[in-house]
Amino acid sequence: QTGDERAGRIPRYVRVNTILWTSSEAVEYFKSKGFQVSDPLQNQYGTSTSHMVLRSNPDRKGFSEDEHIPNLLLFNPQARFHEEETYHSGKIILQDKASCFPATVLAQDVHKLHEDFIDATAAPGNKTTHLSALLGNKGKLFAFERDANRFATLKSMIAKAGCRNVEPMNADFLTILCDDQKYADVTHILLDPSCSGSGIVNRLDHLTEQDKEDGDPFKQERLEKLASFQLMMIKHAMKFPSVKRIVYSTCSIHPTENEHVVSKALESGEAKLNGFRLAPRSQVLPNWHRRGIPEEMVSDGAECVVRCSPGEDATNGFFVSCFVRQSRGESTEL
Ligand code: SAM
Repeated sequence: QTGDERAGRIPRYVRVNTILWTSSEAVEYFKSKGFQVSDPLQNQYGTSTSHMVLRSNPDRKGFSEDEHIPNLLLFNPQARFHEEETYHSGKIILQDKASCFPATVLAQDVHKLHEDFIDATAAPGNKTTHLSALLGNKGKLFAFERDANRFATLKSMIAKAGCRNVEPMNADFLTILCDDQKYADVTHILLDPSCSGSGIVNRLDHLTEQDKEDGDPFKQERLEKLASFQLMMIKHAMKFPSVKRIVYSTCSIHPTENEHVVSKALESGEAKLNGFRLAPRSQVLPNWHRRGIPEEMVSDGAECVVRCSPGEDATNGFFVSCFVRQSRGESTEL
Protein backbone atom coordinates (compact mmCIF):
# COMPACT_ATOMS: atom_id res chain seq x y z
CA GLN A 1 0.00 0.00 0.00
CA THR A 2 1.29 3.46 -0.85
CA GLY A 3 0.85 6.39 1.51
CA ASP A 4 -1.85 7.78 -0.81
CA GLU A 5 -3.80 4.51 -0.67
CA ARG A 6 -3.54 4.49 3.09
CA ALA A 7 -4.58 8.15 3.26
CA GLY A 8 -7.62 7.28 1.14
CA ARG A 9 -8.75 4.97 3.93
CA ILE A 10 -8.52 7.63 6.62
CA PRO A 11 -11.68 9.68 6.99
CA ARG A 12 -11.48 13.45 7.30
CA TYR A 13 -11.93 13.90 11.04
CA VAL A 14 -13.52 17.06 12.38
CA ARG A 15 -13.38 17.70 16.11
CA VAL A 16 -16.15 19.94 17.32
CA ASN A 17 -14.62 22.51 19.65
CA THR A 18 -17.08 22.34 22.53
CA ILE A 19 -15.79 25.64 23.93
CA LEU A 20 -17.51 27.41 21.04
CA TRP A 21 -20.04 24.93 19.66
CA THR A 22 -21.95 21.72 20.41
CA SER A 23 -22.03 18.47 18.47
CA SER A 24 -25.75 18.75 17.84
CA GLU A 25 -25.34 22.29 16.47
CA ALA A 26 -22.53 20.98 14.27
CA VAL A 27 -24.60 18.05 12.98
CA GLU A 28 -27.49 20.40 12.13
CA TYR A 29 -25.10 22.82 10.46
CA PHE A 30 -23.51 20.16 8.25
CA LYS A 31 -26.94 18.79 7.35
CA SER A 32 -27.95 22.29 6.26
CA LYS A 33 -24.85 22.28 4.04
CA GLY A 34 -26.10 19.17 2.21
CA PHE A 35 -24.26 16.47 4.20
CA GLN A 36 -26.22 13.39 5.29
CA VAL A 37 -25.80 11.42 8.48
CA SER A 38 -24.71 7.81 7.79
CA ASP A 39 -26.02 5.16 10.16
CA PRO A 40 -23.15 4.01 12.29
CA LEU A 41 -22.66 0.23 12.28
CA GLN A 42 -20.90 -1.49 15.12
CA ASN A 43 -18.44 -4.35 14.92
CA GLN A 44 -15.91 -5.76 17.30
CA TYR A 45 -13.04 -3.87 15.71
CA GLY A 46 -14.70 -0.56 16.07
CA THR A 47 -13.73 0.72 12.64
CA SER A 48 -16.99 0.04 10.86
CA THR A 49 -18.31 3.56 11.24
CA SER A 50 -15.34 4.84 9.33
CA HIS A 51 -15.68 2.22 6.63
CA MET A 52 -19.39 2.91 6.43
CA VAL A 53 -18.74 6.57 5.73
CA LEU A 54 -16.20 5.68 3.05
CA ARG A 55 -18.41 3.05 1.37
CA SER A 56 -21.76 4.67 1.70
CA ASN A 57 -21.20 7.98 0.11
CA PRO A 58 -19.88 7.96 -3.41
CA ASP A 59 -21.13 11.53 -3.57
CA ARG A 60 -18.85 12.28 -0.63
CA LYS A 61 -21.64 13.81 1.38
CA GLY A 62 -22.05 11.28 4.20
CA PHE A 63 -20.81 11.88 7.71
CA SER A 64 -21.06 10.23 11.08
CA GLU A 65 -20.24 10.63 14.75
CA ASP A 66 -17.19 8.70 15.89
CA GLU A 67 -17.85 5.66 18.02
CA HIS A 68 -14.89 6.09 20.41
CA ILE A 69 -14.30 9.82 20.75
CA PRO A 70 -17.12 12.16 21.77
CA ASN A 71 -17.61 15.30 19.65
CA LEU A 72 -15.61 13.90 16.73
CA LEU A 73 -17.24 13.73 13.30
CA LEU A 74 -15.98 11.79 10.34
CA PHE A 75 -16.39 12.65 6.70
CA ASN A 76 -15.14 11.30 3.40
CA PRO A 77 -11.33 11.65 3.06
CA GLN A 78 -11.87 14.01 0.13
CA ALA A 79 -14.01 16.43 2.13
CA ARG A 80 -12.31 19.81 2.51
CA PHE A 81 -12.95 22.26 5.35
CA HIS A 82 -10.04 24.68 5.20
CA GLU A 83 -12.18 27.33 3.54
CA GLU A 84 -15.06 26.84 5.98
CA GLU A 85 -16.10 29.71 8.25
CA THR A 86 -16.47 27.18 11.09
CA TYR A 87 -12.79 26.28 10.67
CA HIS A 88 -11.60 29.90 10.63
CA SER A 89 -13.70 30.78 13.65
CA GLY A 90 -12.34 27.86 15.71
CA LYS A 91 -15.65 26.01 15.98
CA ILE A 92 -14.11 22.96 14.31
CA ILE A 93 -10.57 21.64 14.57
CA LEU A 94 -9.20 19.28 11.94
CA GLN A 95 -7.56 16.60 14.02
CA ASP A 96 -6.93 12.93 13.32
CA LYS A 97 -8.87 10.53 15.53
CA ALA A 98 -5.73 8.98 17.06
CA SER A 99 -4.50 12.42 18.03
CA CYS A 100 -7.68 12.82 20.13
CA PHE A 101 -6.78 9.77 22.24
CA PRO A 102 -4.20 11.35 24.61
CA ALA A 103 -6.38 14.15 26.03
CA THR A 104 -9.34 11.75 26.28
CA VAL A 105 -7.28 9.29 28.34
CA LEU A 106 -5.70 12.01 30.47
CA ALA A 107 -8.88 13.89 31.39
CA GLN A 108 -11.11 10.89 32.15
CA ASP A 109 -10.77 11.06 35.94
CA VAL A 110 -11.13 14.80 36.34
CA HIS A 111 -13.70 15.73 38.91
CA LYS A 112 -12.03 18.47 40.87
CA LEU A 113 -11.46 21.81 39.24
CA HIS A 114 -8.64 22.82 41.54
CA GLU A 115 -6.37 20.28 39.85
CA ASP A 116 -3.82 21.79 37.48
CA PHE A 117 -2.66 20.29 34.18
CA ILE A 118 0.51 20.57 32.09
CA ASP A 119 0.83 20.03 28.38
CA ALA A 120 4.63 19.68 28.22
CA THR A 121 5.06 19.81 24.42
CA ALA A 122 2.13 21.77 23.15
CA ALA A 123 2.51 23.32 19.66
CA PRO A 124 0.65 23.59 17.38
CA GLY A 125 -2.00 23.04 20.04
CA ASN A 126 -4.39 20.34 18.86
CA LYS A 127 -4.16 18.40 22.09
CA THR A 128 -3.93 21.54 24.26
CA THR A 129 -7.19 22.89 22.87
CA HIS A 130 -8.80 19.44 23.17
CA LEU A 131 -7.75 19.18 26.82
CA SER A 132 -8.91 22.72 27.49
CA ALA A 133 -12.34 21.82 26.14
CA LEU A 134 -12.49 18.55 28.12
CA LEU A 135 -11.79 20.59 31.27
CA GLY A 136 -14.77 22.76 30.41
CA ASN A 137 -12.47 25.76 29.83
CA LYS A 138 -11.94 25.89 33.61
CA GLY A 139 -9.07 25.26 35.99
CA LYS A 140 -5.47 25.76 34.89
CA LEU A 141 -3.56 24.23 32.00
CA PHE A 142 0.11 25.23 31.60
CA ALA A 143 1.21 24.69 27.99
CA PHE A 144 4.96 24.59 27.27
CA GLU A 145 6.56 24.91 23.87
CA ARG A 146 10.30 25.47 23.48
CA ASP A 147 10.41 26.52 19.82
CA ALA A 148 9.65 30.25 19.35
CA ASN A 149 7.96 29.96 15.94
CA ARG A 150 5.85 27.02 17.00
CA PHE A 151 5.00 28.87 20.21
CA ALA A 152 3.51 31.70 18.10
CA THR A 153 1.33 29.13 16.30
CA LEU A 154 0.30 27.67 19.65
CA LYS A 155 -0.77 31.06 20.98
CA SER A 156 -2.89 31.82 17.93
CA MET A 157 -4.55 28.40 18.05
CA ILE A 158 -5.40 28.85 21.74
CA ALA A 159 -6.89 32.28 21.03
CA LYS A 160 -8.86 31.03 18.02
CA ALA A 161 -10.29 28.13 20.02
CA GLY A 162 -11.44 30.46 22.82
CA CYS A 163 -9.40 28.73 25.55
CA ARG A 164 -9.35 30.76 28.76
CA ASN A 165 -7.86 28.13 31.06
CA VAL A 166 -4.53 27.82 29.19
CA GLU A 167 -1.33 29.63 30.16
CA PRO A 168 1.07 29.20 27.22
CA MET A 169 4.78 29.42 27.97
CA ASN A 170 7.71 29.58 25.57
CA ALA A 171 9.94 27.29 27.64
CA ASP A 172 11.75 23.98 27.61
CA PHE A 173 9.83 21.59 29.85
CA LEU A 174 13.09 19.98 31.00
CA THR A 175 14.17 23.29 32.55
CA ILE A 176 10.97 23.66 34.60
CA LEU A 177 11.69 23.01 38.26
CA CYS A 178 9.34 20.40 39.61
CA ASP A 179 9.45 21.90 43.10
CA ASP A 180 8.41 25.37 41.87
CA GLN A 181 5.33 26.38 43.95
CA LYS A 182 3.58 27.39 40.73
CA TYR A 183 3.30 23.71 39.78
CA ALA A 184 2.57 22.36 43.24
CA ASP A 185 -1.03 21.46 42.28
CA VAL A 186 -0.24 19.90 38.91
CA THR A 187 -1.83 16.45 38.94
CA HIS A 188 -1.93 15.57 35.22
CA ILE A 189 0.72 15.85 32.49
CA LEU A 190 0.35 15.34 28.75
CA LEU A 191 3.59 14.37 27.03
CA ASP A 192 3.48 14.25 23.25
CA PRO A 193 7.15 14.94 22.50
CA SER A 194 8.98 15.18 19.19
CA CYS A 195 9.23 11.76 17.54
CA SER A 196 10.20 10.26 14.18
CA GLY A 197 6.66 10.81 12.85
CA SER A 198 6.85 7.38 11.20
CA GLY A 199 3.12 6.81 11.70
CA ILE A 200 2.00 9.78 9.63
CA VAL A 201 0.63 8.20 6.49
CA ASN A 202 1.30 10.95 3.99
CA ARG A 203 4.78 11.42 5.33
CA LEU A 204 5.76 7.80 4.64
CA ASP A 205 5.94 8.28 0.87
CA HIS A 206 7.46 11.69 1.18
CA LEU A 207 10.22 10.33 3.34
CA THR A 208 10.95 7.53 0.91
CA GLU A 209 11.99 10.21 -1.56
CA GLN A 210 14.09 11.86 1.07
CA ASP A 211 15.67 8.51 1.95
CA LYS A 212 17.49 8.55 -1.35
CA GLU A 213 19.24 11.77 -0.46
CA ASP A 214 19.66 11.59 3.29
CA GLY A 215 19.75 7.92 4.09
CA ASP A 216 17.11 6.16 6.18
CA PRO A 217 15.20 8.75 8.26
CA PHE A 218 14.10 5.98 10.61
CA LYS A 219 17.52 4.49 11.11
CA GLN A 220 18.04 2.95 14.51
CA GLU A 221 20.63 5.49 15.60
CA ARG A 222 18.18 8.38 15.15
CA LEU A 223 15.35 6.46 16.81
CA GLU A 224 17.58 5.70 19.80
CA LYS A 225 18.42 9.37 20.16
CA LEU A 226 14.76 10.34 20.09
CA ALA A 227 13.97 7.56 22.55
CA SER A 228 16.47 8.78 25.12
CA PHE A 229 15.00 12.31 24.88
CA GLN A 230 11.47 10.89 25.23
CA LEU A 231 12.49 8.86 28.28
CA MET A 232 14.07 11.93 29.85
CA MET A 233 10.79 13.82 29.42
CA ILE A 234 8.76 11.06 31.11
CA LYS A 235 11.21 10.80 33.99
CA HIS A 236 11.08 14.58 34.46
CA ALA A 237 7.27 14.51 34.52
CA MET A 238 7.34 11.79 37.20
CA LYS A 239 9.20 14.14 39.56
CA PHE A 240 6.38 16.68 39.95
CA PRO A 241 5.20 16.17 43.53
CA SER A 242 1.41 16.07 43.01
CA VAL A 243 1.31 14.34 39.63
CA LYS A 244 -0.88 11.27 39.58
CA ARG A 245 -1.45 10.70 35.84
CA ILE A 246 0.93 11.09 32.88
CA VAL A 247 -0.07 10.31 29.30
CA TYR A 248 2.82 9.64 26.91
CA SER A 249 2.07 9.48 23.17
CA THR A 250 3.87 9.48 19.82
CA CYS A 251 2.92 9.40 16.16
CA SER A 252 5.61 6.77 15.60
CA ILE A 253 5.14 3.11 14.71
CA HIS A 254 8.56 2.10 16.02
CA PRO A 255 8.73 0.09 19.28
CA THR A 256 11.99 1.91 20.06
CA GLU A 257 10.00 5.12 20.69
CA ASN A 258 6.96 3.39 22.15
CA GLU A 259 7.00 0.10 24.08
CA HIS A 260 10.76 0.33 24.76
CA VAL A 261 10.53 3.89 26.14
CA VAL A 262 7.59 2.93 28.35
CA SER A 263 9.37 -0.19 29.61
CA LYS A 264 12.49 1.80 30.48
CA ALA A 265 10.38 4.47 32.20
CA LEU A 266 8.68 1.80 34.33
CA GLU A 267 12.06 0.40 35.35
CA SER A 268 13.52 3.81 36.13
CA GLY A 269 14.38 5.08 39.59
CA GLU A 270 11.86 7.91 39.14
CA ALA A 271 9.00 5.45 38.60
CA LYS A 272 10.04 3.27 41.52
CA LEU A 273 10.65 6.16 43.89
CA ASN A 274 7.36 7.89 43.06
CA GLY A 275 5.25 4.74 42.66
CA PHE A 276 4.31 4.97 38.98
CA ARG A 277 2.91 2.01 37.06
CA LEU A 278 0.83 1.68 33.90
CA ALA A 279 -2.85 2.48 34.18
CA PRO A 280 -4.93 -0.67 33.62
CA ARG A 281 -6.60 -1.31 30.26
CA SER A 282 -9.94 -0.27 31.75
CA GLN A 283 -8.60 3.33 31.92
CA VAL A 284 -6.95 3.42 28.50
CA LEU A 285 -9.60 3.25 25.78
CA PRO A 286 -10.71 -0.27 26.80
CA ASN A 287 -12.84 -0.67 23.67
CA TRP A 288 -10.02 0.08 21.28
CA HIS A 289 -8.92 -3.20 19.71
CA ARG A 290 -5.23 -2.65 18.92
CA ARG A 291 -2.93 -2.83 21.93
CA GLY A 292 0.86 -2.75 22.38
CA ILE A 293 3.23 -5.38 21.01
CA PRO A 294 3.78 -7.90 23.85
CA GLU A 295 7.24 -9.05 22.72
CA GLU A 296 8.45 -5.46 22.82
CA MET A 297 7.34 -4.76 26.36
CA VAL A 298 8.21 -5.65 29.94
CA SER A 299 5.90 -8.01 31.81
CA ASP A 300 2.28 -7.96 30.60
CA GLY A 301 2.04 -4.21 30.03
CA ALA A 302 1.14 -4.42 26.33
CA GLU A 303 -2.58 -4.73 27.09
CA CYS A 304 -2.44 -1.40 28.92
CA VAL A 305 -1.20 0.65 25.98
CA VAL A 306 -2.83 1.52 22.68
CA ARG A 307 -1.53 1.43 19.13
CA CYS A 308 -3.06 2.61 15.86
CA SER A 309 -1.84 1.09 12.64
CA PRO A 310 -1.57 3.57 9.73
CA GLY A 311 -4.41 3.07 7.27
CA GLU A 312 -5.59 -0.22 8.82
CA ASP A 313 -7.39 1.47 11.72
CA ALA A 314 -8.73 4.41 9.72
CA THR A 315 -6.20 6.64 11.49
CA ASN A 316 -2.55 7.59 11.26
CA GLY A 317 -0.07 5.43 13.15
CA PHE A 318 -0.06 6.31 16.83
CA PHE A 319 0.85 5.10 20.33
CA VAL A 320 -0.66 6.04 23.71
CA SER A 321 0.33 5.01 27.22
CA CYS A 322 -0.72 6.23 30.64
CA PHE A 323 1.26 6.13 33.88
CA VAL A 324 -0.52 6.46 37.19
CA ARG A 325 0.84 6.95 40.67
CA GLN A 326 0.01 4.05 42.87
CA SER A 327 -1.25 4.88 46.33
CA ARG A 328 0.34 3.09 49.23
CA GLY A 329 -1.14 -0.34 49.82
CA GLU A 330 -2.78 -0.48 46.38
CA SER A 331 -2.51 -3.74 44.43
CA THR A 332 -0.01 -3.85 41.55
CA GLU A 333 -2.25 -6.05 39.41
CA LEU A 334 -3.02 -4.60 35.98
N1 SAM B 1 0.85 17.99 21.08
C1 SAM B 1 0.97 18.80 19.86
C2 SAM B 1 -0.37 18.85 19.15
O1 SAM B 1 -1.16 17.90 19.30
O2 SAM B 1 -0.66 19.81 18.47
C3 SAM B 1 2.07 18.28 18.97
C4 SAM B 1 3.40 18.21 19.69
S1 SAM B 1 4.78 17.91 18.64
C5 SAM B 1 4.74 16.19 18.40
C6 SAM B 1 6.11 18.11 19.76
C7 SAM B 1 6.35 19.56 20.15
O3 SAM B 1 7.14 19.57 21.33
C8 SAM B 1 7.11 20.35 19.12
O4 SAM B 1 6.43 21.54 18.85
C9 SAM B 1 8.46 20.64 19.78
O5 SAM B 1 9.01 21.88 19.41
C10 SAM B 1 8.07 20.62 21.24
N2 SAM B 1 9.15 20.26 22.17
C11 SAM B 1 10.11 19.34 22.01
N3 SAM B 1 10.88 19.26 23.10
C12 SAM B 1 10.39 20.13 24.00
C13 SAM B 1 10.75 20.49 25.33
N4 SAM B 1 11.80 19.92 25.94
N5 SAM B 1 10.00 21.41 25.97
C14 SAM B 1 8.94 21.99 25.36
N6 SAM B 1 8.56 21.71 24.09
C15 SAM B 1 9.28 20.78 23.42
